[in-house]
Amino acid sequence: MTEYKMTPRFAIGMSADWRGQQYNLIGIEPRCRRDGRDTLVLVWQTCCLTCGVSFTTTTAQRKLKKPNRNCPTHAKKRPS
Ligand SMILES: [Zn+2]
Repeated sequence: MTEYKMTPRFAIGMSADWRGQQYNLIGIEPRCRRDGRDTLVLVWQTCCLTCGVSFTTTTAQRKLKKPNRNCPTHAKKRPS
């Protein structure tokens, strides 16, 4: 069984807030980084700021930091 070295404040099912947008933590997944080391990503469910559709995004950090705020469709149309 894999032991997640996460801070206790991250538990699946919790919700977090990023600048007024709510994210629900739905999973914690192992990822293999390019250098071959294992890491963990947080899988969040939220709603697109532009169209409101529900989508999932991941953050590589152990905290919710600069997550995607738009669904994959609208994330590509970021204003410069
Ligand atoms: Zn959208």
